[in-house]
Amino acid sequence: MTYFCSMARKKKFHLFENIEVIDTAAKGKSVAKAPDGRVIFLSNTVPGDIIDIQTGRKRKSYFEGKAVKFHKLSDKRTEPVCDYFGVCGGCKWQNMKYEEQLAYKQNEVTNNLIRIGHLELPEVTPIAGCKEIYFYRNKMEFSFSDSRWLTQEEIQSGKDFDNKNACGFHIPRMWDKILDIDKCHLQEDPSNDIRNSIKKFAVENDISFFNPRNQHGMLRTLMIRIVKTGEIMVVVQFFEDDKEKRELLMQFIADKFPEITSLQYVINNKGNDTIYDQDVIVFKGRDHIFEQMEGLRFKINAKSFYQTNSDQAYELYKIARDFANLKGDEIVYDLYTGTGTIAQFIAKKAKKVVGVESVPEAIADAKENAILNKINNVEFFVGDMAKVFTQEFIKQNGTPDVIITDPPRDGMHKKVVEEILQILPNKIVYVSCNSATQARDLALMSNDYKIIKTQAVDMFPQTFHVENVVLLEKR
Ligand code: SAH
Repeated sequence: MTYFCSMARKKKFHLFENIEVIDTAAKGKSVAKAPDGRVIFLSNTVPGDIIDIQTGRKRKSYFEGKAVKFHKLSDKRTEPVCDYFGVCGGCKWQNMKYEEQLAYKQNEVTNNLIRIGHLELPEVTPIAGCKEIYFYRNKMEFSFSDSRWLTQEEIQSGKDFDNKNACGFHIPRMWDKILDIDKCHLQEDPSNDIRNSIKKFAVENDISFFNPRNQHGMLRTLMIRIVKTGEIMVVVQFFEDDKEKRELLMQFIADKFPEITSLQYVINNKGNDTIYDQDVIVFKGRDHIFEQMEGLRFKINAKSFYQTNSDQAYELYKIARDFANLKGDEIVYDLYTGTGTIAQFIAKKAKKVVGVESVPEAIADAKENAILNKINNVEFFVGDMAKVFTQEFIKQNGTPDVIITDPPRDGMHKKVVEEILQILPNKIVYVSCNSATQARDLALMSNDYKIIKTQAVDMFPQTFHVENVVLLEKR
């Protein structure tokens, strides 16, 4: 016993019994508290579960642990629909009822605004949930590998597996292991059929799959986009090239899926598999597809950014537009405009819209789409926000009455917030995919601005991600 205690102290491993999981935490984890009050972060448990916890690594002020025995399963649980739940890193909340997911997302946003931002909130509008809680993504990216992730049962069976080719997702934190996916619940048909058919044809025709350790093999990644107009884009990325085999495969895809609008490929033998600096070659059809939203059309090519949940992007933009409540005579800035979708969505209701974004290709798309949509009161500029968005820029483009801002997860650069506070527009609509950095930024503005409305929006059911839109008015 003494020995066990000293070992336990040395290793600082603990077994805590009959503990209730009390909350969700960042990155899809959940939280329980040790008897001494210290926080324990857990995976694959749901608030309301009562469990025995084996702690692993102890960090400074908290533990990481896992449930080794379940005494009671939470009534917030539901059966995950996916066979790969718990192995695939994708949909960490599939084991929680959707209304509970929404409640936790709502809570997270409110808590961040209050605890991090110390902000005074108006009555909080209930989170906008999704109608479609599966098959909601318009874009999926799969990876090929010749070293498939084997399940526990497969390893225990002692069998040899000749064919370890896989197409699916990376196992979390394992850069060289791919979980083979037969059915993913995130993108509608024919997504699964396209992926599985390519995989089967490649195996039958001896087209090699990428080996990430030794860097060889042909098939590297597969991107599928299926949008609301019904148009489909497929981009196959090859590492090594073999013209005959490449053409055989591409022709097979074209013949089997004549509904593909844009069938393209990339030959990329550099170390990483991003295609942004690569030539994308059209095999059949166009080099782009069109998505549409409220009569606007958006041209999307292989490298374009577009919100991945089209239906919910529409809801998000409507909320931003309602919050801005434009009369028609305002100059509006759309900061972090991406491909200019929000700018174009609100243009009809404004005198002029100015969009700023750092990715040149996105701005090229934004300009092209504006012409296509016959919108002539928008202007787009490329550059790092902290450098472009200056007094000089405001002098040239007009003082904004309303600023809409939709920064990446890190939130706005301090200089950008300072610039906004120099301008003091009447209204600010802050769209955020990370309410922690949003809270930080709002705190910096709280002397001059009052929060009038705050509305969380769920764009990614089954995950812990949540967007939040806040309307600020000058005090
Ligand atoms: N509002 C757009 C995109 C929002 S995503 C939409 O709804 O589609 C955030 C955008 O900020 C991305 O397009 C990203 O490229 C851009 N971005 C990131 N850092 C930036 C910076 N420092 N300066 C300007 N834009 C930046």
